[in-house]
Amino acid sequence: MLKELIDQFYLNRKKDKGQEHFYISEAGKCPRQIFFKFKNAPRKEMEANILRLFDHGDHMHQLIMKPLLSTREVRVVTAEVDIPPQELVRGRADAVISDGKELYVLDIKSMNSMVFKNLTEPKEENINQIQLYLHYFKIPKGIILYVDKDKLDLKEFAVNYNKTLVEKILKDLTCLKKQIDSNTIPSRIPDYPDNWQCRYCQFKEICGMADEKDLGWEDFKKKIEKLGN
Ligand code: SF4
Repeated sequence: MLKELIDQFYLNRKKDKGQEHFYISEAGKCPRQIFFKFKNAPRKEMEANILRLFDHGDHMHQLIMKPLLSTREVRVVTAEVDIPPQELVRGRADAVISDGKELYVLDIKSMNSMVFKNLTEPKEENINQIQLYLHYFKIPKGIILYVDKDKLDLKEFAVNYNKTLVEKILKDLTCLKKQIDSNTIPSRIPDYPDNWQCRYCQFKEICGMADEKDLGWEDFKKKIEKLGN
């Protein structure tokens, strides 16, 4: 009885609707997947345990911020801070901290023990994300702090602003925006279906029905609507 009630609580909160903005966490991610989110294409429903894991991640952040807020060596300048408003992308950094000399953007990520154990460098998608924070906050240094969800161990990586990488990410997002506006489904990522993003992709089924290359959304939409009837 309780399991069903708790599951339903999470499932009710998650109402899929068409996305209207890019989020910083999508920087460098599969453009086709983002396109499908904007178009609210049919997707595999997320399971309640996955939704609970998102909540769990938020609690991890609180756990990390507590000592940082009480230490004297580091000052939390601001927490949960939105990037300055602009047309292309939205995002909220976990914190901006200061060691008394310099500012750092802090991004906290939690993961399971297996992934944590093998982590020797920051993940590419996390670097992309923090680079955009550095760009929009005009802060040249950042820290990605990983938390092992199972053992609560920590690993941290310093990241310096990389202008070339940021320009590429912003160019790719601008290009994707044009494809969304012109109803052109982007190509699959080159290592489909082995890429980790495909493994967790809610649109994997319809992606498999579309050609590998760019194609028109309107015709493809009719095709998937027919299958749904
Ligand atoms: S299955 Fe892979 S290539 Fe297709 S939309 Fe999802 S992430 Fe992109």
